Amino acid sequence: MHRTWRAGRFLLAVSSLFAVLALAAVVWLGVDLHAFRRAAGQLQAETVPWTLERQRLGRNLEQLRLEGQRVLMASSPASRQDALFLVHVLSAQPGMADDPRTASLAAEVEGFLQRIGSPAAPADIQAWEALSSRLRLMADDLSVEGGKRMSHELAHLSNEIDEASYKLFFNLLLVAGFVVVFLRIVQRYLIRPLQRIQRVLSSLDARLPAPAFPPGPMAEIRAVEDAIVRFHATLRENDEVRLRLERLATTDGLTGLFNRHHFMGLAADEMARAARYGRPITVAIADLDHFKQINDTLGHAAGDHVLRTFAGLLGETLRQTDRVCRYGGEEFAFVFPETTPEEALQLAERLRARLLDNPLVLPDGRRLEVTFSMGLTDGSGCDLEESLARADLGLYEAKRSGRNRSVITQRPDLG
Ligand code: GH3
Ligand code: MG
Ligand code: MG
Repeated sequence: MHRTWRAGRFLLAVSSLFAVLALAAVVWLGVDLHAFRRAAGQLQAETVPWTLERQRLGRNLEQLRLEGQRVLMASSPASRQDALFLVHVLSAQPGMADDPRTASLAAEVEGFLQRIGSPAAPADIQAWEALSSRLRLMADDLSVEGGKRMSHELAHLSNEIDEASYKLFFNLLLVAGFVVVFLRIVQRYLIRPLQRIQRVLSSLDARLPAPAFPPGPMAEIRAVEDAIVRFHATLRENDEVRLRLERLATTDGLTGLFNRHHFMGLAADEMARAARYGRPITVAIADLDHFKQINDTLGHAAGDHVLRTFAGLLGETLRQTDRVCRYGGEEFAFVFPETTPEEALQLAERLRARLLDNPLVLPDGRRLEVTFSMGLTDGSGCDLEESLARADLGLYEAKRSGRNRSVITQRPDLG
């Protein structure tokens, strides 16, 4: 037994699973976006001002160096004083004082410049050269520091962007994958079975074998398929009952030949057709000879056996188009379409010869010679009842004149 799922619940489960996955993926992506926003915020609020500050500090150190140069080169005490004042202002700048490296260097420079005399001694000029290059180097260092931190943070930001794009791409893949899987499930387990059901229903026939459905996982589809199989079985039973009833209504239970009622309908149609197209047709009645004697001496069962065997022989000897029925007890009525009474007589004699050549064998092995008498008449353009009555006259004549023979009764209108 295959496991089955309710289609609605199954699709809900698949959708829920996807929703959970998608939510997890969005959270995953969200974490990255948050980190990206934080890094961008830090860049904007801290790194950029800090880098600008480094550059300003670098410029101030350069300025300090130039002012120091002016102190050394001052041509008058006033310009020296002026330059010294600017050196002091630059050294006292908050940015300069905040960084211990610049603060100590600035203090060293300011102290040195205040200490030296004017004009400067060669040793002071040499010491200044060293200080000046330290100032330049520190200015460069500060500028490089700013650039480094900036590029490091930008690289971090770019990493975050990369990761977020990969995750976004993965999320899109997940959505596309889900859509494909969902459609595939719907197509395979719902649409295709429905199409198969539609095909089966449009060609459902009680005479064809029962429809077979490959077992699928959807409970609703299985229920419909099972109902169709049961429906087909019911159709088949109904059809068999109908056929059985039809057989019961149209045939004789003992011999399997048509019954009198059904024969009358068929024969009337044949007579009407022959009359319409002016075709020959012969009507006949046959009766087994001394049948009562068979019953009386061998028993009713033997009589039944004779009737069945005689009916079987009729079936073998007559043509497909000929119509025959058990007319009553041991009497049989015939309609031979497209046949004149003389041709039908030949057919009757062939039957008589077969009976003569193959005596009837009873179930207990005894052999029995059975004969029949027959009356025939031309039925073309005539009424069925009237033709049967005329054939019956021929039968009576055959009995009267010694049995085991056939007699044609001529039509009075042609005679
Ligand atoms: P005839 O040559 O003049 O036709 O003589 P007969 O004995 O054949 O005719 P009769 O009409 O006297 O007898 C017919 C017998 O057929 C009477 C009846 O018991 C028997 N019969 C009718 N239907 C059946 C049947 O279904 N089974 C059997 N075993 N006998 C039947
Ligand atoms: Mg008889
Ligand atoms: Mg009879």
